[in-house]
Amino acid sequence: MRNTRSRAGRSPVAVNPYADIDWETTDQCLSQFHLHEPRNRIDPESATHDPSGEIADGGDRERPSPGDLIDKYGFAGYSALAVTEHEYYVDGTKHKGDPFFEDLDVTSWPWSQWERHGGAGDMIPIQGAELRGTVEGIDGRHDIVSLGTDLGHGRGQSLLQVATEIDERDGVSFLPHPGRYPQPEGLNAYVELFERVDTVLGVEAFNGRDRYPGCRDIWDELLVEFGSRRPIWAFANDDYHARPRSPENERFDRSRTVLLLDERSPAGVIDALRAGRSYIQYNGDGIAPAIDSITVGDDRVRVTSPAATSVRWIGDGKPIASGATLSLGDVSTTYVRAEAAGSSGAVSCTQPLFLS
Ligand SMILES: [Zn+2]
Repeated sequence: MRNTRSRAGRSPVAVNPYADIDWETTDQCLSQFHLHEPRNRIDPESATHDPSGEIADGGDRERPSPGDLIDKYGFAGYSALAVTEHEYYVDGTKHKGDPFFEDLDVTSWPWSQWERHGGAGDMIPIQGAELRGTVEGIDGRHDIVSLGTDLGHGRGQSLLQVATEIDERDGVSFLPHPGRYPQPEGLNAYVELFERVDTVLGVEAFNGRDRYPGCRDIWDELLVEFGSRRPIWAFANDDYHARPRSPENERFDRSRTVLLLDERSPAGVIDALRAGRSYIQYNGDGIAPAIDSITVGDDRVRVTSPAATSVRWIGDGKPIASGATLSLGDVSTTYVRAEAAGSSGAVSCTQPLFLS
C-alpha cells in the first residue's frame, strides 16, 4: 500500500537559502562583485553610464580615481562593492600576455589610498580581483573572481589551482560570464571545480547588458547536476570598465546582486554570499522589480514583488508555472527558482530552493 503520509509534517523544501530571513528587518544591499578600475573619467554624481559613446577610449589622459567609481555606485544606491581589476592590469597599465612579474600580484586595495574608508554608513569594501586559470579544452584562459583575499594573479596555473589558492587564503570565488567560453567537454571542468572546492560559490547568470544569455542555461545545468548537496548560487554584475559603449551596450547599473544582510560589514557580505542569502537583478532597459519576500509554507512557495508584471517558475531548467505562488504538490523537479519580470526586459531572479 502506498504510504500517503510520508510527507506529512515535513517541508517539501530541503534547502532554502531564505529560510531564516526576517524580511521586515533585513537590509537589502545592492552590490557589485565584478568591476574594473575606471578607464576614463566618470561623474561620481551620476547614475548613468560614463563616458558617453562619443569619447574615444582612453581619451582621458588623467588617470581617473577608483574612488570616483566607488562614489558613483554609492550615488546609484549601492552599499557593497569589490573593485576586481584584471590580474594583468597594474596602475592603469595593461600587461596582458607579459610574463609574470611580482608587481602584478596586487589587488585594488586598500581603498584608503583613494581616501575611501568604508566606515559606518559608507560603501562596504570587499577586496578582490579578476584572475585567470587554464582549463582543459577551453582556448585561452578562464576568468575567476576572487573575493576577500589579497591574491592578485593566478600565475598561469589551472583554474582548479587558482580556486584552491583563493580557498586556502580564506576567500571565496565565483565564475564570471561562463557563457563566454566554448564548452567542448560539456560542463566537466566546472563539475570537477565545484566538486573539489567548496568556496567556488557559483556563476554569473547576468553580466553587463546580458552579454551572454547562455549563462543561465549553464547555471541551470549545474543546479540539476549537483542538486541540494552542493548549491550553485547565481551572481549578477556590471563588469563595468568606464569605457564608451553604444547605448545598447552600456553596462553601468544593469546587472547586480542584492544581498540580504544580517550585518553591514565585509564579513557579513561574505557570509551572505556563502549562504546564498541574495537574489539577482537585471535591469535591461527598465528597472528590475524588488523582491519583498520569498516564503515557504503549506506546500507552497510565494514570491512577493509588487512591482513585477509577472512571475514565472523554473524547475530543472524549464518553465514549470507562473504566478506569485507555486504549489509544490505536483512539482517533481530537483529545485525551483522564480523570475519576477518588470517591463523592458527587466527581471529579478531568486536563488534556487531545493526540493525534498
Ligand atoms: Zn571583468
